[in-house]
Amino acid sequence: MKYVSTRGQAPELDFSGVLLAGLAEDGGLYMPQSWPVFSKEELRALRGLPYAELAARVIAPFVGDCIPFKELQAMCRRAYAGFGHAATVPLVQLGTSIFALELFHGPTLAFKDLALQLAGHLFEYVLAQKGERVRIVGATSGDTGSAAIEAMAGRANIDITILHPEGRTSEVQRRQMTTVTAKNVLNIAVKGNFDDCQDLVKAMFGDAPFRKEMGLSAVNSINWARIAGQIPYYVASALALGAPDREVAVCVPTGNFGNVLAAWVAKQMGLPIAKFIVASNCNDILTRFLNANDMSVRTVAESYSPSMDIGVSSNFERLLYAFVGSNAEETAAIMADFRVSGKMAVPEAAWRAVKCEFVGFTLDDPGTLAEIARTYRESGYLADPHTAVGLAAVRDCAPVGLPVIVAATAHPAKFPDAIEKAVGFRPALPPRLADLYERDEIFTRAPNDLAHIEGLVRAFAHRNMT
Ligand SMILES: *Cc1c(COP(=O)(O)O)cnc(C)c1O
Repeated sequence: MKYVSTRGQAPELDFSGVLLAGLAEDGGLYMPQSWPVFSKEELRALRGLPYAELAARVIAPFVGDCIPFKELQAMCRRAYAGFGHAATVPLVQLGTSIFALELFHGPTLAFKDLALQLAGHLFEYVLAQKGERVRIVGATSGDTGSAAIEAMAGRANIDITILHPEGRTSEVQRRQMTTVTAKNVLNIAVKGNFDDCQDLVKAMFGDAPFRKEMGLSAVNSINWARIAGQIPYYVASALALGAPDREVAVCVPTGNFGNVLAAWVAKQMGLPIAKFIVASNCNDILTRFLNANDMSVRTVAESYSPSMDIGVSSNFERLLYAFVGSNAEETAAIMADFRVSGKMAVPEAAWRAVKCEFVGFTLDDPGTLAEIARTYRESGYLADPHTAVGLAAVRDCAPVGLPVIVAATAHPAKFPDAIEKAVGFRPALPPRLADLYERDEIFTRAPNDLAHIEGLVRAFAHRNMT
């Protein structure tokens, strides 16, 4: 399998190449040159397989001949062995045709574990093969950092440094990062906000000599391996509801558009998904786009669903590329103009085509609390604030007569404050995390200063080399 950049000016790479590269050199995102398609017969044959086995078979065509199938199978088994549910991604019925696809049984209680746990093994394997070492550096406001740390902790040939804004993440989120004691993990609490952390990371990547000296790498949501690791759960859940012999709809609480893009890729592979419901909080750039072709940037507002607080959905570029007929030149021009103008000029024909499959929905904070309360009252089900946005979207815009799969992206115990406001009590952490508040924390405090932070990363790297 070959991968090409959405902007057409970067070298074609194989799976190992895109895994390590993340973003393409020309600023574009890597896409497979063609979609692997499963026949109905092949899809039916996946029914009832253990999740890790199904995941290996669905991901295999994207990996191509970079990794032998037996190795990939073993990596999938190891990646999902630590999940807190025997089904890995159980499907829970909430109404006649509404099903919550629980993606939060991994170590950090959010869906990012599904892709990142596997990515940890993929990185380790590919680095050993190439005899290389990487230093992953990232900034987090909460969820991504903990999932990346859990995925990379203890993996050979990888160091990971995560910057978080001191005192500005929730206690659960901070502890999920700072209580990981593996020696290749460095947590830095920066005096500043999330944007300061992100600027520091960008500046480290922009410092070419430092970047080269350290072998910096990233595992952010534009990495194709992240998308690939999110496709199997759509296949598993749709098969459970009757696909490929019955159409389904999918509803995804969305921020960077990575999770919903994975569902769309599953459709390209042969899964009959008739509709994609894109659920957003008050940061509604995608809803404005779908309703009125208005993809214009506004300031990001804080909400009860912080992992969806985004100004621009970076993975949308992949859908844009596909809907302008895989025309990289046109995609590059649209993105260059977007960067300058802050409004994406999506061609009318492409917008109309997207609208045939995708529908947008927005919910504010009071609506989110009301939805949590209502779902709890009607089904006894406790949805986290992100999932609640999806559930409200289904009520509002689900097509009649189709089973709808709603991605339940986080465990309610990750957001106890919002849950308490909605239903009057704080949800308990699952047993395997019950002692999180008693565990020792290890982190380094640092000023918002690039030279200082680079010094910490360098000292950490040298310590781990010896
Ligand atoms: C990251 C995240 C999202 C948004 O996913 P995208 O792939 O960025 O659209 C939604 N919910 C939770 C809990 C998340 O952590």
